[in-house]
Amino acid sequence: MTIDNYDFTGKRALVRVDFNVPLNEKFEVTDDTRIRAAIPTIKKILAGGGSVILMTHLGRPKGFDEKYSVKHIIPTVEKLLGEKVLYAPDPMKADAEAAALKPGQVLLLENLRYYAEEEGKPRGLADDASEEEKKAAKAAVKEGQKEFTKKLASYGDTYVNDAFGTAHRAHASTALIADYFPKDKLFGYVMNGELKAIDKVLETPERPYVAIVGGSKVSSKITIIENLLDKVDSIIIGGGMTYTFMSAMGGHVGDSINEPDMCETARDIMRKAEHKGVKILLAGDALCADKFAEDARTQVCPSNAIPEGWQGLDIGPESRARFREHILECRTILWNGPVGVFEMAAFEGGTRAVAEAIAEATGAGAFSLVGGGDSVAAVNKFGLADHVSYVSTGGGALLEYMEGKVLPGVAAIR
Ligand code: AMP
Repeated sequence: MTIDNYDFTGKRALVRVDFNVPLNEKFEVTDDTRIRAAIPTIKKILAGGGSVILMTHLGRPKGFDEKYSVKHIIPTVEKLLGEKVLYAPDPMKADAEAAALKPGQVLLLENLRYYAEEEGKPRGLADDASEEEKKAAKAAVKEGQKEFTKKLASYGDTYVNDAFGTAHRAHASTALIADYFPKDKLFGYVMNGELKAIDKVLETPERPYVAIVGGSKVSSKITIIENLLDKVDSIIIGGGMTYTFMSAMGGHVGDSINEPDMCETARDIMRKAEHKGVKILLAGDALCADKFAEDARTQVCPSNAIPEGWQGLDIGPESRARFREHILECRTILWNGPVGVFEMAAFEGGTRAVAEAIAEATGAGAFSLVGGGDSVAAVNKFGLADHVSYVSTGGGALLEYMEGKVLPGVAAIR
């Protein structure tokens, strides 16, 4: 069942969205991508004769706190939706507002994380709390979570999960609530789109299939790389991870980011890749800097012979050309993580080259999925978001899904 063939006539749909958007010091929304993404789902329900109760979290409040109030985002939601948005100041006392809701109307519940029960994690425990106290606090909040979930569920007739960004969390509004709607639980368009795009690269990728994994550290990308070894034909490894691999192979990486305790892991990845016939491409040359700064002096060095006092902050020209050539030969491309310190103009060239190559390959018919906060920021920065097949909105959720984990928010509906 999808929201396209569900009959919303006269139904109150509880829609979990991810309106966790960045706000500036004046509490204005600085990036409305996530709100924009959820609009088609809301419009569809309203057009189908239903009403919508929006549930979201915003930031990490420790209780009721104006700073994290969803009131700040109402003007943006109203503008993008073209409808008035009603507001319930306490998500646990919204019975009257929910009951008064008429078809075509939208009600936004205040930040669910004002309550610890949303996440089900105890708050305000003293640092020196004993194990017993911690256990008791946890049990109490878990118990309260049942009531919390039941209350939220009581407001609606149908549950729609459209928050991919939080699908990897088993929270009240993202997963537990689905139990109250055994026959009336659905994915929204954002969730459907994300799952379809990711399933496509996970399950039925056209080959050759390359994954480009960048970022700063091997330690944070190890699970995803290992999982990808069973799926892809090649992996381009970029970013700070390069230097751990180089030093694992006996190279000299100067002051580059390096995790000596990950060298054995890096060697293990190389061995496994060889065994599975997966080609690993590392950047042979690096754009090096004499300090971690925009105005550093720079020089191009072999990535395994970086002088002391210098650090590799981007891939070099030879690697850019080689990676581009390889990417253009592929039919499925997955990209997670920048290949250099793209936040600084001086070291954005490699990441730009990768993004452009992906866009070029996509233009020639390849399927490309870009996900993970920083690579999404990179394609946006280079104005290439419309030139790749799919840009995922979920950082942690995307990674966990790709690692092969079951996402509670997805499992609850499926
Ligand atoms: P991650 O969150 O692990 O995907 O890492 C993203 C971060 O890695 C970005 O902020 C980049 O600036 C950083 N990064 C990429 N390449 C390098 C590098 N060669 N040295 C240090 N940091 C890097």
